[in-house]
Formats: sequence, C-alpha cells, structure tokens
Amino acid sequence: MRPVLVINSGSSSFKYQLLDVDTTRVLATGLVERIGLGLGQITHDTLGVKTERTAHFDNHTVGFEAMLEAFKEQGPDLEKFAPIAVGHRVVQGGSRFFEPTIIDDVVEINIEELSQLAPLHNPGALQGIRAARKIFTRVKHVAVFDTAFHQTMPPASYTYAIDTEVAKQYRIRRYGFHGTSHSYVAKKTAEFLGKPLNDLNMIVLHLGNGASACAIRGGKSVNTSMGMTPLEGLVMGTRSGDIDPAILFYLNRVAGYDVDALDRLLNTKSGLLGLAGSNDMRDVAGRAETGDEKARLAIEVYALRIRHYVGAYYAELGRLDAIAFTAGVGENSDTLRLATLENLESIGIQIDNERNSARSRSSRLISTDSSKVRVLVVPTNEELEIAVQAAEAAE
Ligand code: AMP
Repeated sequence: MRPVLVINSGSSSFKYQLLDVDTTRVLATGLVERIGLGLGQITHDTLGVKTERTAHFDNHTVGFEAMLEAFKEQGPDLEKFAPIAVGHRVVQGGSRFFEPTIIDDVVEINIEELSQLAPLHNPGALQGIRAARKIFTRVKHVAVFDTAFHQTMPPASYTYAIDTEVAKQYRIRRYGFHGTSHSYVAKKTAEFLGKPLNDLNMIVLHLGNGASACAIRGGKSVNTSMGMTPLEGLVMGTRSGDIDPAILFYLNRVAGYDVDALDRLLNTKSGLLGLAGSNDMRDVAGRAETGDEKARLAIEVYALRIRHYVGAYYAELGRLDAIAFTAGVGENSDTLRLATLENLESIGIQIDNERNSARSRSSRLISTDSSKVRVLVVPTNEELEIAVQAAEAAE
C-alpha cells in the first residue's frame, strides 16, 4: 500500500483526499471551509461515514491541525496509513515547471512569484503548501501543476500574435490548464481502446464548471483552448471563453467599466450564467427542453464553440483517432454531447444514440462501430492523477 495525501487549497478553504495509489482506493476525503472568515467548518468522510464540525480556523495551519484531529477521531489512522507523499494541486506553473516537482523553499518562492500570473489561484495553493509542510515534516511534498502537461505545446500553439517584446516582458503566452485531467483522460482512453498512447491522436473535452479542449498527439498536448488564464476558449459556467478583445475597450470607453468590473463581467457573470441565468448545466438543459429560448440559445452557443475547437484540432492533428468527453457536463449530459458532435459523419464522427444516452459511471464508447473516430466518455479523476504523479516524483 502507498497512501498519498492530496491537497487542493484555495485562499479560504482546502479539500483533501487520502488515497492508496496501488489500489486507487480512496481512504478519506474532506473539506475545510471558511478559513480566516469567522466560524468555519470541517467535513471528514471515511468510506461513507461523514462528520461535520464547526470551529474557527484562523489560518491554514489551524485548518490542517483540525484535519489531523479528524483523522485521529474518525480514522483512518495516519500512523498505519502514513502518506508516502503529499501532492499539492497548483494551478499556474508558468514556463518554469513542466513536471511534478518536489517542493523546497526555492520552489515555494517560484510558486509565489508566479502568483502575478494567477492571482486568484496560486496564493491559496501556497498557503496550503506552507501549512502542510509545517504539519507533515517527514514526507516529501510534491507540486502538481495544471499547466505542466501543456508545456509540450509548440511555439505556434502558445504564441499570441502581439508585440513580441511586450509578450516576453510580461510572460504573455498560452499556458493552458486542466492538464492533470487531460493527461489522466488521455491515458485512460488509450487503455480503454487497448492501443499505446504514443500511437493515438485525440481530442479531450473537459467540460465542467471550467471547460477546455485539448489536442493530444501521442500522449503529448499540442494545443489547448485555455490561454494565459483559464478565461479563454470554451463557454463555461460563469466565464465567457473567447470574445473579441475590443469589447473590453468598448465597454470601458462607452460604459465606463473599469478593469475590475470587466474582470467580474467575463469571469463571474458570463458563460451559461450570463446567457441563461444559471451556471448549472442541469438547470439550463432542463429549461431548454421545456422551450425556454434563453436556455436553448445558451446550449447552442456552448455546443457550437466546442464544435469549432473539435474542427480546429482535427485539422491540426491531421489524423484523429478519438474524442473523449469528461468532467461534470461531459460525463453526464448526453444532450450536450450529441449537440456537439451530431451530423459529422462526413468527417468520420458518428454518435450512437443508444450508447450515448445509456447511464454509467465507467469509461464507455458512445460512437457507432463504423465511426472512424472513436468517441468516448471517460470519467476524470484529478485527485488520483495528482496522487500517482506525487508518488512517482517522491520515490
Ligand atoms: P465539474 O466542474 O466537473 O464538477 O462539473 C460541474 C458541471 O457539471 C455543472 O455545470 C453541472 O451542472 C454539470 N453537471 C453535473 N451533472 C450533470 C448532469 N447530470 N447533466 C448535465 N450537467 C451536469
């Protein structure tokens, strides 16, 4: 048995999961919420037994102490299931980090320095790392970056057509995100198809609250729809994805929107929420079925954007073997999957309606037997992938 503790920390909360990478069994999961915000809560879940407790967590260290306490009271015993590594999810690794990295003081400083590129994400991860390193002193801590998988993109994919000097000075380029998920799903797709990953060209569609597409050649990311930040690309729960950048100048000049208002508009008030008043695809799809025009349009815009990326990446890859849907929407919404890929027989993509609408939590094929491109639904598991990568790096 090789237990690994996975930490996904934000600035006022963190999620944890203890899992055994040998059996992939989850031993415990938990969530510490409202750190530094008055009365907080810890939820600890061990094989279906769930406890909740409220307390004040002044900082992340106090949160981690509460987590240790929960393990002591409810198990599993961290002496018996001692983690061989602690894996930390870090959103932005810039151009510096292209693989899981053992955390020392210098790596911490580098992650801190990259906060400028990811002000909403890296500072929270760092708070989690610092607190966890104080609590788990004898085990290696490994940073697993959302951007790392995309460091194989060629310059033509990651370069924006702006003044190169400005781009260089401010590190403006496409970094891409959801890399842990894209990498996990690519491996699972190859396993499912019984083909070596090296021989496969595929497109992974990670459609959750955040959403991104990734073109993968022989297991390596060659392009992805998120850019310098997670705002670019597909329509998401609350983010717009691609828009004409001149809309920002226009809103500033004509309507007086300042930078913060524009940031809020595009990151938190757009996407499905902006179009249909809800960021939950279940709501929007349900309303579309009952004839709600806004909801119907939202789904059309959402699906058409994905379709564009599928076409673009198909052309880029030259040969396409598989398309894999994953994450909340991708795994659960047959309507959306169909809307995205219907009527593409002429380019070798044919969805089997019965397979598409069958419910399952396992990896499965949803294309017809004669479809040249195999279309699959592959449940993602970012925690497991972080754990496996952390264990490999620490050994
Ligand atoms: P994630 O970020 O991967 O947890 O995905 C969250 C998104 O998945 C939300 O927009 C949910 O509405 C969506 N989702 C979850 N279950 C379903 C479902 N059965 N049908 C459609 N969307 C779903």
